[in-house]
Amino acid sequence: MKLALATWVEVEDYLKDNDGIIVPIGSTEQHGPTGLIGTDFIIAQGIAEACAEQLGCYVAPPLAVGMAQHHMAFPGSMTLHPATYIQVLVDWITSLSKHGFRRIYFINGHGGNIAPTLTAFNEFYAGVSLKPETEESKTLCALASWWTMPNTDALIRDIFAEKDGAHATASEIAITQYLCPESIKPAAPDLFVAAAGTPLDIHNGYDYRRRFKDGRIGSDVRAANPEDGGRVFKQAVKDITEHCTKFFQS
Ligand SMILES: [Zn+2]
Repeated sequence: MKLALATWVEVEDYLKDNDGIIVPIGSTEQHGPTGLIGTDFIIAQGIAEACAEQLGCYVAPPLAVGMAQHHMAFPGSMTLHPATYIQVLVDWITSLSKHGFRRIYFINGHGGNIAPTLTAFNEFYAGVSLKPETEESKTLCALASWWTMPNTDALIRDIFAEKDGAHATASEIAITQYLCPESIKPAAPDLFVAAAGTPLDIHNGYDYRRRFKDGRIGSDVRAANPEDGGRVFKQAVKDITEHCTKFFQS
């Protein structure tokens, strides 16, 4: 159920017997010469809506711009400062908690969001822990980055092996090909693929572009196809639905 398509009356009714909600978080950033700029939030939103359907819970609108300062030398990328990102997330959590959502489950599509998301959780918790106890002490948050779910990761290794790479991965591009078939961009047959073991200690956006000229990190996007994207997507939905079910029951 999409929060955006509900009325406040329906939400108030839902909260009488339920307290779980899923929030997709992603990024708007370059994904190499063939990947969509919306890749990270398109995937997070797709998985989140499918999981919410299975769980019968609400799914919030996606946070479509994340912490992506290291992609800013590539046109079309957008970022929040880390401190802004953290504050935005704290405000989202506080808003949902105020209404009585007590289990807030974030489905993430972007590696750069992981550290500031966990910091946002602790910022919210600090606000609770430093005051006399209120109902908000029952509000808990969880984070699932879809590609790190063990069975999803195993399937990605199985299908793409070392061709997956570390950014603009074959698997994430394959999922967007499955979800947005009208926007598939063909890869050049003679595409250069960086050697495996490429360093990941990227600093700023210029440093990134100097070292990874077309934006990919070690991925061979010629391996991406919508059929395999669908397989990975469905595995991620299964893994995350199971994980979220346990969290909602905790
Ligand atoms: Zn991505």
